[in-house]
Amino acid sequence: MTEDTPQNPDRRRVIGGLAGGATALGLAGAANAQQSGETAEAPPLTRMRDPQTAYPQPPFEEQQQEWPGLTSEMNPVPDHGEESYRGSNRLSGRRALITGGDSGIGRAAAIAFAREGADVAINYLPAEEQDAQEVVALIEKAGRRAVAIPGDITDRDFCEQLVQRAVDELGGLDILVNNAGFQQSAASIEDISDETFDQTMKTNVYAPFRITKAALPHLEAGASIIITASVVAEQPPENLFDYSQTKAANGIYAQVLAKQLASRGIRVNAVAPGPFWTPLQVVGGQPTEAIPEFGATTAIGRPGQPVEIAPLYVLLASGESSYSTGQLFEATGG
Ligand code: NAD
Ligand code: MG
Repeated sequence: MTEDTPQNPDRRRVIGGLAGGATALGLAGAANAQQSGETAEAPPLTRMRDPQTAYPQPPFEEQQQEWPGLTSEMNPVPDHGEESYRGSNRLSGRRALITGGDSGIGRAAAIAFAREGADVAINYLPAEEQDAQEVVALIEKAGRRAVAIPGDITDRDFCEQLVQRAVDELGGLDILVNNAGFQQSAASIEDISDETFDQTMKTNVYAPFRITKAALPHLEAGASIIITASVVAEQPPENLFDYSQTKAANGIYAQVLAKQLASRGIRVNAVAPGPFWTPLQVVGGQPTEAIPEFGATTAIGRPGQPVEIAPLYVLLASGESSYSTGQLFEATGG
């Protein structure tokens, strides 16, 4: 069964045509539910559906944006769960800080956290204010407090100010998601400038180190730290020399910190996405000519949409995963 989301207008059209409109949607849903054996009340993301066709498939339009990119300028616009993610108080009353929370995977986590009952602070670059304001509106629509903290995490002082502002405005901190990242494709090591190498390291490795150090005094037993690593840590592509090294470092970050912090009751885990449809990829993360077939070589045959990885962040943030620490959770498309 496929989804009646904006990503799949065909299904809407078919059902609307069959039974004539909005009230019929429920009836059609019930009929399908009977066939597949599930109940009609299943929330959208948990329904039986074929993962190959549940979201947009290649080929995509060739596209590039100036770094750091904007969500609204992507075609198709990524799905962060705006229409589909339903919460069930799994993070009730928690206070979370998510870097790179304006777009992509961080945005999906921010929406999911808010709908699970958390107050959420997001960090992003000033150029991403439009994306950030969309996320703020979604968090507030979920009835939670949203804190927008623009600033550059390659700046050491800002890393400390970021944590302090989040703590001040949220009244504390329970969940830290180190998710911001910088990725630039380069065919050869000789094409990587010292400045670009430095920016990749500062964003992906130094910033999580500095932000985590600043956050630790505020974290109590039960708190959760999550870092966004990548499948490239284990299977580094030829064109991602510097980036792949930082993502391997992110995995080690989780493994070592988990050992250091277990005795304080703080868990640390890494999430490793495969190819996800986010601005990162269309601002130089991939060569332009690779965008149309992005995600095509996975077993599922398409890129992941940010909403498809949000449940992993929720699981790791919540007390449900109390025996998981120092681990790497993958969502790679196979
Ligand atoms: P994205 O572009 O939506 O998010 C990256 C964010 O990083 C940006 O929104 C920006 O706010 C932030 N950022 C970058 N440099 C910054 C700086 N100097 N200061 C402050 N913020 C800065 O893309 P995404 O794919 O959602 O990326 C999120 C994470 O996922 C990254 O760590 C990335 O490495 C990782 N990842 C992505 C993929 C993928 O295919 N999209 C795959 C594996 C891992
Ligand atoms: Mg962004």
